[in-house]
Amino acid sequence: MLTRPRPPEDLLGPDGACTAMPVRPDHDLLAWIRATFIDEDAPLLNEDHLHLRSAQLGTLWCAVPNARQGNSVVGMCETTAFMGNRWAKARFEQQITGWFGSMPHFLLTFDAGFADQCDDATFCSLVEHELYHAGQAKDRWGAPRFSKTTGLPVFEIRGHDVEEFVGVVARYGVGAAAGRTAALVEAANRGPIICETAIAGACGTCGHKL
Ligand SMILES: [Zn+2]
Repeated sequence: MLTRPRPPEDLLGPDGACTAMPVRPDHDLLAWIRATFIDEDAPLLNEDHLHLRSAQLGTLWCAVPNARQGNSVVGMCETTAFMGNRWAKARFEQQITGWFGSMPHFLLTFDAGFADQCDDATFCSLVEHELYHAGQAKDRWGAPRFSKTTGLPVFEIRGHDVEEFVGVVARYGVGAAAGRTAALVEAANRGPIICETAIAGACGTCGHKL
């Protein structure tokens, strides 16, 4: 197993957020993510991420604390589609291409302090949560979509498999619950394929407590 990259030292500790450059691209982190979860010979290969073999990804550490609904945000997945005026868009694209050489399909940002403190399993589950948000669009029949011009998958942010209230399941059972609740319950009952972990933090993409 490859050792996971650590955030830069100067982003850690109470002064981390006060550095002049609290956002830092890390190409080694992306290489580790591909080698661990995505590549053909990855030790923790997850076939749900296969479309990401043809995606361009950019990975960042950030030392600026972020919170959503009272929970610390520890990871986030975004597309690089920019909403704003043309100068702001130009500024954004110059910054991102300066870091990564081109515009990635997805930007993955991780909290430097959290990543430094958490154990390997927690970090893996955080990374995979964000990778799951880096989805491939589907057509109306549920088949994965590909671009007619580039032949590449059409990339988009994917929502969660399950959005349901515990109370609904408690009162009406898994069969009546929304989306793939039954599949989630089944997976929970089977036990983890990799290992048990507990993340205390939230995802900036979905706002969910991880
Ligand atoms: Zn999320």
